[in-house]
Amino acid sequence: MRILNKYYAFKDKSRNLRNSEFKLLGNINFNNKNYPLFRIDINSKIKNPSLCFSAAIHGNESSGVSGILKWLENNNISRKINYRLYPITNPYGYHFFRRTNHKRINLNREFKKENPEKEIKLIKTDLRNKLFNIFISFHENSTKDKEDFYIYSYPNKNSIDFSKYILRNISNNVIIDERKIIDGYKAKNGLIIDDMESSFEFYMGDNNAKVSICVEIPSKISIKQRTDIAKDIIILTEKFYL
Ligand SMILES: [Zn+2]
Repeated sequence: MRILNKYYAFKDKSRNLRNSEFKLLGNINFNNKNYPLFRIDINSKIKNPSLCFSAAIHGNESSGVSGILKWLENNNISRKINYRLYPITNPYGYHFFRRTNHKRINLNREFKKENPEKEIKLIKTDLRNKLFNIFISFHENSTKDKEDFYIYSYPNKNSIDFSKYILRNISNNVIIDERKIIDGYKAKNGLIIDDMESSFEFYMGDNNAKVSICVEIPSKISIKQRTDIAKDIIILTEKFYL
């Protein structure tokens, strides 16, 4: 089972790490099957800097999941940084290669709702009283439009500056999307200022993170290349502080 394979891969990896806690937040139940939603904390005693990474809120965008796992497996995790990981935010969607959850709801438009989907309730509860220096949500963009790499930034200076740092320092192999309009938004050198208030990244910028961005990895390139880009973005984020 695709979701359980990854669930156990992350759980095993977490067990072998020092100062790591794996937590099952809850199960998404559909047709008598459970799809686990989990998170991992590493070095939680360290307050600063703190980084939070999430992936697969759109279940068919899997390179964030494999990128986070590959980064964990490289065993080069800093002991001076606090990490929180939500590697599979939409477990049902991930299992079935679907953008939406089992009710065909786009979870990245739920964060402002008073009564959001269970996945979002579990995450919001888990985030209570947490403040991160940086939050990154990993996405993949449209295959149809053959898009290149770009970033949605929360509309504050810290997030915009950090987005530019990523765009400047990302590997030369990554082609930045230079279009002036992307997804209907005004864009400049691969940067879009986010106004989607119901998205995970906007919620984090409003409540839980000083820097909050969403990275859009090109889905037209191979899964190995996409995985390496996600992993490299995590490493660039660590370097921002070290
Ligand atoms: Zn997405």
